[in-house]
Amino acid sequence: MLDQYRMLDGSAVARFVPGKVVCVGRNYAAHARELNNPVPDEPVLFIKPASALVDFTKPLQLPQGEAIHYEAELAVLITQPLTMATEDQVLQAIGGIGLALDLTKRALQSRLKAKSLPWELAKGFDGACPVTPFVEPGRFEDLGNLAFSLWIDGETRQRGNTSEMLFPVVPLIQHISKHFTLLPGDLVLTGTPEGVGELEHGMRLRLDLASVCQFSSEVTIEGGGSSLQNKG
Ligand code: ZN
Repeated sequence: MLDQYRMLDGSAVARFVPGKVVCVGRNYAAHARELNNPVPDEPVLFIKPASALVDFTKPLQLPQGEAIHYEAELAVLITQPLTMATEDQVLQAIGGIGLALDLTKRALQSRLKAKSLPWELAKGFDGACPVTPFVEPGRFEDLGNLAFSLWIDGETRQRGNTSEMLFPVVPLIQHISKHFTLLPGDLVLTGTPEGVGELEHGMRLRLDLASVCQFSSEVTIEGGGSSLQNKG
């Protein structure tokens, strides 16, 4: 669980507690294709509970069992209520830009999808949303042209740019606010570019946000260390 969000300088965002995480699936055409999903004409939305949030900069402790896939995504921290919001209201309500992992039990999600069941079991578990500290949005010239990447053990695995989104940040949040009121402390995850894959015990992760900041973490899977030792 995450008690408070943090800003890049380490200060806690004490004004509100972390809330729900509204996510969009298939917001990058290349990623939709890599999972053999059609490119949607309306955003595919789902919600992770606040209990899924954890601090990305602490070691990620993942449950054993189902394989867990990473999806690196730009995360937007909402700091004002938004219902049926205008473009201006959305811009006023963006209090921070960070990065997050939309962790997914992919095989379970595929089984749920095949039965037309909701995805929560695959995407809403405890720890399913590691999130970095946030950067003031004013630090970026253009939210519509923001690059980010995920590195694993020194190799780049995912590269995205908000310019490649099917539904860009501001219209996406406007659309979300037609269906769900966004409250201060809620997060919006804006979809993942291609290159998703499985996390393994001991992997060292790095998330880069534009040229502004880098965040590091490491994967721990319960019992993962001992099974590796057993193999040796
Ligand atoms: Zn995702």
